[in-house]
Amino acid sequence: MPRHDSTVPTHLDTTTLARFFAKVRPDGGCWRWDAARNARGYGVFRLAGRTPLAHRVAYLAFVGPIPEGHELDHRCESPSCVNPAHLQPVPHHVNLSRARRAMSAGAKRRWSTASPEERSARGRLMAAGRWRKPKC
Ligand SMILES: [Zn+2]
Repeated sequence: MPRHDSTVPTHLDTTTLARFFAKVRPDGGCWRWDAARNARGYGVFRLAGRTPLAHRVAYLAFVGPIPEGHELDHRCESPSCVNPAHLQPVPHHVNLSRARRAMSAGAKRRWSTASPEERSARGRLMAAGRWRKPKC
């Protein structure tokens, strides 16, 4: 995934905010991105001639910088959600979140396209009885 952090503003002006929220549809506690998405289901937002991931834009604008080497994990398991409260920076090498995501309800629907790593991570956790449903 390309890194655009240095080029994504951490402050959005009023016009940009309005444009951003025009694409957001509240869905339970989630802010569902109701516009362009990439192949992985993440919302993308055209900004300053680039198309950064919408949830990263939201996090940078409303929470702050993402720590070096971290990526944002969707606590709610919805890739299209851009609610900063549902995003948590996790170290890249921690793939527990990926395993957890692999077993989410949403992932079950995507199961046919899951990678071998996701399948084996899910299988290991299920075998160990360690799968717990995420809270949000
Ligand atoms: Zn959410």
